[in-house]
Amino acid sequence: MSRIAYVNGRYLPMRDAAVNIEDRGYQFGDGVYEVCEVREGRLVDVRRHLMRLKRSLEALHIRAPMSSNALGVVLRETVVRNRVGYGIVYFQVTRGVARRDHAFPAPEVPPSLVVTARALNRTRNEALAAKGIAVISVPDNRWGRVDIKTIGLLPNVLARQGAIERGARDAWFVDGDRAVTEAASANAWIVTYAGTLVTRQADHAILRGITRTVLFDVIQAEGLRIDERCFTLDEAYAAREAFVTSASQIVLPVVQIDGRAIGDGKPGPVALALRREFHRYAERD
Ligand code: PLP
Repeated sequence: MSRIAYVNGRYLPMRDAAVNIEDRGYQFGDGVYEVCEVREGRLVDVRRHLMRLKRSLEALHIRAPMSSNALGVVLRETVVRNRVGYGIVYFQVTRGVARRDHAFPAPEVPPSLVVTARALNRTRNEALAAKGIAVISVPDNRWGRVDIKTIGLLPNVLARQGAIERGARDAWFVDGDRAVTEAASANAWIVTYAGTLVTRQADHAILRGITRTVLFDVIQAEGLRIDERCFTLDEAYAAREAFVTSASQIVLPVVQIDGRAIGDGKPGPVALALRREFHRYAERD
């Protein structure tokens, strides 16, 4: 079955799905995006993802291509047309098509909207979570507004590639104070030996992950302690557990950082319990 993409009002086979070469997303990375998990064919936490998209668009003064309700319909339709049971839906909005000039187009042009959906391999994802992943630390050289989910991801791309070249799976960004900000495409967490969960406060230095937000509810319901603060790389090396959270990975244990085993070098019980419980607290529609 060929995959179907939604492009500016039309559902097209992937091979025919294209955007103009003067699209500002292509020229400047001038756009924002979201990734939403799909389970049993239903969207997970789509309300929150649509809210964050709205916030990202407003921060960059990009007009919304349609209402959140209408966009929800397009997302569901794309999932159905691609027959995705378990997977992700990706949607991106750019400032639109205009002759290349850094300043915003004047007069304004319609924003571009692209939506794709694809199945993920559930067995493979569960096996990865059962094994845990290795990460490396890299200097955080991104711009100062990574709380906006922009499509400009070059530092993240290079960090992830660097990790792979060094035999790891992902990278953790570290700021000038040796504090961990987040992973290349996920939020970073540790569990201390006292049993407290620690993740960086959601300032301009991290993306406020939807998975992170929902996990706060899970943690509270499970009666665990949480400390939303900066933690250093050395604290992470000395942690009992570490893990990352994102819509496509939910809770994924980290068992090694920069070649050092975390805890006993196996996925920790807290991370695995949070992974198991997560979908009881996430919204589904
Ligand atoms: N941080 C970064 C840099 C990301 O790219 C992502 C997800 O893509 C996240 C955090 C996690 O966000 P969410 O839980 O909303 O997927």
